[in-house]
Amino acid sequence: MVEKTLSIIKPDAVERNLIGTIIAKFEKEGFKVLAMRLHHLTKDEAKDFYIEHKEKPFYNSLVEYMTSGPVVLMVLEREAAIAKNREVMGATNPKNAAPGTIRAQHALSMEKNSVHGSDSPSSAAREIEFFFSDLIRCC
Ligand code: UDP
Ligand code: MG
Repeated sequence: MVEKTLSIIKPDAVERNLIGTIIAKFEKEGFKVLAMRLHHLTKDEAKDFYIEHKEKPFYNSLVEYMTSGPVVLMVLEREAAIAKNREVMGATNPKNAAPGTIRAQHALSMEKNSVHGSDSPSSAAREIEFFFSDLIRCC
């Protein structure tokens, strides 16, 4: 089934000029970029976006990090996009990420792990609506 997923190139990767490298990887893996913009998240946006992690010990640090510089927000589309994006990203902890994945190649740490990807159809719907509500209305 052709699906859409939300991808974020996080501040550590934007800072190191990895935007082109990461988008090239997604395109090579068959993803279409349906929507994209550079954005500096506010504290309120980061807190709300990661609300599922509110009680976790890393939540405050994650919010600080995600607001530390601009990110690239994208809606990606392909067959089984949600699972395929998670596969191309690699495990959350780059030490556990499979060779060749974005996180294995580029992540700096468990927190500064270069990319975000929706983890289920319901989170993809929520996250796309969160940043690209126009796309939902028009397509
Ligand atoms: N994170 C962290 N420490 C942890 C777990 C997660 O700093 O122990 C950060 C990391 O940037 C991760 C984000 O919080 O990407 C969201 O965590 P999640 O478990 O949803 O991982 P993901 O879905 O991004 O792989
Ligand atoms: Mg997650």
